[in-house]
Amino acid sequence: MTDITPAPGDELVFLPLGGSNEIGMNFNLYGYGPAHDRKWIVVDLGVTFGDQTTPGVEIILPDPTFIEEHARDILGIVLTHAHEDHIGAVAWLWPRLKAPLYATPFTAFLLREKLREAGLVDEAPITEVPLSGTFQLGPFELTLLTLTHSIPEPNGVAIRTPLGVVLHTGDWKIDPDPLTGEATDEGAIRRLGDEGVLAMVCDSTNIFVDGEAGSEADVREVLGDLIRGLKGGVAAACFASNVARMDTIIRAAEGAGRRVCLVGRSMIRMSQAARSVGLLEGVGPFLTDTEAKRYAKDQVLYLCTGSQGEPRAALARMADGSHPHVKLGQGDACIFSSRIIPGNEVPIRNMQNKLADLGVRLYTERDHPGIHVSGHPCRGELERMYQWARPKIAIPTHGERRHLLEHAAFARDLQISQAVAPRNGDMVRLAPGLAQIVDEVPAGRLYVDAGVVTPENGDALRERRHVAVNGMLSVSLVLDGRDRIASGPQLRSIGLPGDEDYPIDEAMEDLAQDAKDAFYALPSSDRESDGSVEAALSRALKKAAFRIWKRRPVVEATVLRV
Ligand SMILES: [Zn+2]
Ligand SMILES: [Zn+2]
Repeated sequence: MTDITPAPGDELVFLPLGGSNEIGMNFNLYGYGPAHDRKWIVVDLGVTFGDQTTPGVEIILPDPTFIEEHARDILGIVLTHAHEDHIGAVAWLWPRLKAPLYATPFTAFLLREKLREAGLVDEAPITEVPLSGTFQLGPFELTLLTLTHSIPEPNGVAIRTPLGVVLHTGDWKIDPDPLTGEATDEGAIRRLGDEGVLAMVCDSTNIFVDGEAGSEADVREVLGDLIRGLKGGVAAACFASNVARMDTIIRAAEGAGRRVCLVGRSMIRMSQAARSVGLLEGVGPFLTDTEAKRYAKDQVLYLCTGSQGEPRAALARMADGSHPHVKLGQGDACIFSSRIIPGNEVPIRNMQNKLADLGVRLYTERDHPGIHVSGHPCRGELERMYQWARPKIAIPTHGERRHLLEHAAFARDLQISQAVAPRNGDMVRLAPGLAQIVDEVPAGRLYVDAGVVTPENGDALRERRHVAVNGMLSVSLVLDGRDRIASGPQLRSIGLPGDEDYPIDEAMEDLAQDAKDAFYALPSSDRESDGSVEAALSRALKKAAFRIWKRRPVVEATVLRV
């Protein structure tokens, strides 16, 4: 605790605005003070990604509306680590929050790059905090705790307030030999437990997995053996942010007499971020993809982005045969040193099928166990963390509902006296009194659609989905000065089928007749108004389309006057 004494009416609250209905989009708030005058800190501000249900939308942000209204009371935004689901929304939402940013050096390096791309680097102040550093933000005293995960510098945050200490774990696992960075700081967590932890807000990703996630050092052995035994060209894909894995693959390649070529923008950017904090030492230099062409196939390893089947990433282009410099073919090998993120199954499978068709042998986690380990805690690790920290209150986060509820039950089994699993927007009062949900504030998603931030399921996306399923009809009708048909109606369809028995041209003629009938059915006073005519044409065509296709296409009616 800090030495400030709580004033009457002071409360400590936790409010997730993202990350508590899904894995991704982490956006956590802690508030301190009386309900009418709270000071806030934000922990993480991440994105999630669109999928087949959000055509054209790749990036999804948490909706900051609630806290935007209290923006002047935000004392700081603390970023635990540099994964997109923790920092990806900063450049999008910072202009609406305008609070100082805090991060350790590696995270700060990548954050600065993002802010520079968004033209915000001079405006948004980043304070670099050293690993294990402590800093004060109003009534909150924050101490970073070194953990292990699948990226350099993963931090937990001990948040000391006059009403108790919260341990916000961020993403973590217990890796005794993480290869990059220090091992999990068990001592610091145990000392925090001795001091007394009021609440622990904790990663739920692997709550359904027994045992331990496994060590990065084990992967090094397995990949080293595998790569030494490979002939021909070799491509390996992993998350660029997993610098320990990059390091492992690079060393395995160099040990097998291969030079490493980094393929993909984020792979190159991450290698620079890693070198900026002293990682990836003693390896390389790396070949560019044009330089690599001068080497025999078995003298190179391509370390590439695109393990999730992302269509524009390096590996997808290699699978398509459309990469300008890197070609894979018969007798080559491709290693997937990564997991399948739920939602990406289909694009990954499609890409793997294309690679297999080229004659490339595939090595995945499923058929070659040990070439990947998770960065999140399994049940064995969670149990140890609860034993170290001994919180009074368990608050699961970083998961879908089923993860959070299972995690809450798990904590109760470990004799944690209170476990609360809030949804996004549920405000949990941690102190004083028993933990409980005391308020519900608006929380939702915003879609980045063609670079524009739009509401979830906004009109543009709704129309695109509607057209994707139902097709589209457009009709135009030209009227003369006396409201008589001068030409048309002209019909055009998009995405509506015809066949030999009923060709699409014939359908269009029938629809034109329906449109004409609808026009003539209008009283002459209505024919003077473009809006009335257009509405009548739309109604008629919707009805006719349903008769023909049992579909409700989007109908665009236009009246022109000559
Ligand atoms: Zn992470
Ligand atoms: Zn995460």
